[in-house]
Amino acid sequence: MKKKKKVKEGKTKSLVHFLKKQPHQYVDQKFQQAHEEVFEEISCLDCANCCKTLGPRIKSSDIKRISKFIGVSVKKFQYDFLKVDEDNDWVLKQLPCPFLEENNDCSIYEVRPSACRAYPHTDTWQQKKQLSLHLKNLPFCPAVEKIFEKINKQINS
Ligand code: SF4
Ligand code: SF4
Repeated sequence: MKKKKKVKEGKTKSLVHFLKKQPHQYVDQKFQQAHEEVFEEISCLDCANCCKTLGPRIKSSDIKRISKFIGVSVKKFQYDFLKVDEDNDWVLKQLPCPFLEENNDCSIYEVRPSACRAYPHTDTWQQKKQLSLHLKNLPFCPAVEKIFEKINKQINS
């Protein structure tokens, strides 16, 4: 099992190494296609691992929007749900995210933090700049793993 995982990691690292040498447009096109295919196949509602284990960085605009939505002051929202991390960013005080419901729905979906909307960052432009981040997200997000698998297949077929 461990050996299989190591082989997979090695393959992904080689792929990232290859992609780093390709033009931006090529890399973006590969990610766009793989992202669309993967999110047609998997449902975040069956997973919610990012909400359970990572938690977003929360910007001031998120704090204002969410506190208004749940009907509390900015100060109370910060006190009840947030802490400042080592990079001086607001993050959730506890995980799993307190807004994650039992069925994996997000109770503040309409106003969720922008980082939650953007995760796992596989459908933006300039994907070459995100490759190292994707490697970090690999153990947490099955979608990222599948996207790399698809790109690998495309390139080697
Ligand atoms: S970890 Fe990835 S697949 Fe799972 S819910 Fe988050 S974005 Fe979706
Ligand atoms: S705010 Fe919603 S989408 Fe973001 S981590 Fe919490 S439950 Fe997940």
